[in-house]
This record gives sequence, structure tokens and C-alpha cells, in this order.
Amino acid sequence: MELCDQSASELIKLLGKGEVSSRDITESVLKRIDEKEGTTNAYITVTRDIALKQADDADRRFREGKKIPNLNGIPIAIKDILCTKGTKTTCASKILGSYIPPYDATAVQKVLRAGAVMVGKTNMDEFAMGSSNENSAFGPARNPINPEYVTGGSSGGSAAAVAAGETILALGTDTGGSIRQPSAYCGITGIKPTYGRVSRYGVIAYASSLDQVGALGRSVEDCAMLLNVISGHDRLDTTSADVKRPDFLKGLKKGGKGIKIGLPREYFIEGLDAEVKNQIMAAVSLLEKEGAEILEVSLPHARYAISAYYLIATAEASSNLARYDGVKYGYRSDADFDDLIGMYEETRNEGFGTEVKRRIMLGTYVLSAGYYDAYYLKAQKARALIKQDFDAAFREVDCLITPVSPTLPFRLGEKIADPLQMYLVDIYTVSVNLSGLPAMSINCGTVGGLPVGLQIIGKAFDEETVLRVGHVHEIISGHK
Ligand code: GLN
Repeated sequence: MELCDQSASELIKLLGKGEVSSRDITESVLKRIDEKEGTTNAYITVTRDIALKQADDADRRFREGKKIPNLNGIPIAIKDILCTKGTKTTCASKILGSYIPPYDATAVQKVLRAGAVMVGKTNMDEFAMGSSNENSAFGPARNPINPEYVTGGSSGGSAAAVAAGETILALGTDTGGSIRQPSAYCGITGIKPTYGRVSRYGVIAYASSLDQVGALGRSVEDCAMLLNVISGHDRLDTTSADVKRPDFLKGLKKGGKGIKIGLPREYFIEGLDAEVKNQIMAAVSLLEKEGAEILEVSLPHARYAISAYYLIATAEASSNLARYDGVKYGYRSDADFDDLIGMYEETRNEGFGTEVKRRIMLGTYVLSAGYYDAYYLKAQKARALIKQDFDAAFREVDCLITPVSPTLPFRLGEKIADPLQMYLVDIYTVSVNLSGLPAMSINCGTVGGLPVGLQIIGKAFDEETVLRVGHVHEIISGHK
């Protein structure tokens, strides 16, 4: 096995023993990028020189024998929605196509301080709006398992890069499923932490009450390790929670005995692919054999989740994206406009892609006088009920297991012409963001060569249980 195909935890052992250098690992990753990028298009920017320099710095720290930070020498890919000082951050949009941030996002600063090696900025749906990575201004990312299939989205580049050995770890963001769904479609592991667990400072905003930074990797252990590094209170993000962070790696060892797992009745009905369901149920029986107790629970308002999500997310997006006007950031049209309004209009018309424009229009509409009560306020009420359902379920069980996506990965082009079909892919993931909960996607097998993702949803700030259940499954099933 090449170095670029190994997990971070294995590589950390090898680095610690001095059997490999960070330079060896980083060169192996960069070589794989050269071989695969033509197919996967997982990156928008590859930061080769930065990576090699950071690898040499990491190797020097090993030689000097000082206190070694937790991710020292491990390559990481960063979703192009997180600001990186001095490195282009496009959000996969033409409107930010040449934007170079003057600062690092807190999550980026934390991984770099932990000694990680930044290999590049990954492809994504423009402004994180999408479920297939087909909405990128830089072309779609392609699934390394089969390039005719989508990677999922919006963190498709991060998931594809991990799956292809084009990085070891990756950062992503998840507003309605964008870490979990691409992780599922690319057969890797990805965790969206509790809202407030990881700082959003320096994350380009899509829907601020839903956005959360999280970790993608080859194993639950790798995700736990990365989550340990990026979590924590940040006074630069007023929604960041001032809570103690447990050691997520230590928590993994507790095993599955006695854990109560709920299966939400409303998630296993019509619309769920029968083969996906079989794989999920097989995984549930494995966990039962390991001593977990399985109970049925009900989330009666689940059916409002997609509507509530797409009203709230678009409303927030319409406000967040108002700042791109050709004055403050990035792109400005050079068309011949008559006045300032004309410049704004032309810049936004040329700079944003179709899906982003659709959402800005929808969001503006639901917030406008006369429609606010009928749509936005109603959606907020539904959001409260969806959250109450989870509160009730968590009085009975410790975590929930559901599919990540109702279907297997789909082909490029299959859903892009029909936005509603695309939105329905998010049916099992958006409620988690509406309720601010932690959830992880792990692989639980394949159907016809295509991976199936299993979702574990936890109580707020109880990532420990989510990771622990995922780890038990990973060990007993041998899926990584
Ligand atoms: N697919 C969802 C959307 O398009 C979620 C995206 C995300 O989590 N960023 O909004």
C-alpha cells in the first residue's frame, strides 16, 4: 500500500518511529494528485510549494525532538469555502474566482498549528449549494470509485480527495448534509459536529444558523483525531459554544455494550432504495450482536424537513450573498453599465451560477413583506417541531441510525436539470442541521460496487457516542 492510501493514525505511528518522513508522505500524496486529478477534479487549487515547505518544517520538528503537535506532518485538504491566508479561496464561484483572503479561518489556523500539511483547496458546489458537486464554476468533481458518478456535495472535492489518496485528511462544511452525503457516496467517513462545536470564523457563509465545519477521513479514528484539533470555543465566532471538549480519541475505546440505538420509523418508508435499506439493517444487526439495544422511535415532523430547510437556508443565503456586489470582493463585470445599480446587477448576473441565483431569488421572496409569515415564519415553526421530535427521541435512546441518502450515488447529469429531485437527496440529513445536532456518515458496504453510507445522529455535544458507535461498526464489519 502506498503512503497516500494509509490512514492518518497509521502514518502518525510510522512518523513517530522515524520510519517515514512527512516529505515522503506529502510527495506520495502529490504524486497521486498528478495521476488522478485529470479524472477526479477534486481540487480547485493544489498548494504544492506550501505543502512541501510545511512537510519539511514538520520533519524538522521531529528531528529537533520538541513537543510534537497532534497532526505533525499529515497532509490535509481544505474545502475552498474556508479562508486561507495568501491562498486563493473561491467558494467554487466566479464571483470569488480571484479572491485571496488576508487571514486564515480558525479551523485552518488550528490544523496548521497542529502541524498538518496543506496540500490544496478542494472543489465543491458553488457557495456550498448542491448535493452533487455539479454546481462548481470549476467543473464537477468525479467519484473516484467510478468517474461516471457524482461525488455528492457540496464537499465533493474533499470526499473524493480522501477516497482517491489525494490527501490523508480533509476539512469540509455541512449546512444540510454536505460532509455526510459526499462521504457516503465516496465510501469514506465524515462527521458534522454539533452547531457551535467548531468555529465558523473565516468560513464563507451560506446559511449561518446551519453551517458547521467538520472532518473527513478514512476511518472514525482519523475523524476523531481531526475533530480534537478543530473543536473549541472561539471568541471570533459569537455562535461558538464555550463547552469543554472531551478527548474524542479516548472515547472510542468504550465499545457498544448497552448503547440504546433508535431507528426512526419515518426514515425507513417509501422512497428509500431497498438495497440501501438492506445494508443499513445488516449493519444494525451487527451492532445488536455487539450488545447495543435497538428500539423504534418516531420523528413525526420529519416530512416537513426538506421544505423548512430549503426556505430557511435560501432566506439566509439571500442575505449572506448580498455582500458580493463588485465593490468589496472579487469579481466585477467590465460590461458597459450606466450606473451603480447596473454594475451590481451585471456583476451578480455574470458572477453567480444558476443554482445560486435560484436560491437568492427564492430566499428574497420568502423574506419579503406579505410572504414572510406564510413561508419563512412557518418554516421556523416547523424547525422548532423537528427539533422537539429529536429531543423526545433522545429521552429514549442514546443515538439514532438512519441512511445518509435515500439512494446510491447517481450519475453525473442525472438530477441536475430537476432541482426538486436534487433537493430530495437531502431528506435524511437536513433535519440534523435544523436541530444543530452532531452526525456522522460511515461506510456500511456496497451495492453493485457503489458505497452505502450509514448515518449516526447524536445528542447535542455528544459526538463521543456517535464516534463510539461508528468505531464499533468499523471494527466488527471491517469496513473502513
Ligand atoms: N445539499 C444541501 C444544499 O444544497 C446541503 C448543502 C450543504 O450542506 N452545504 O443546500
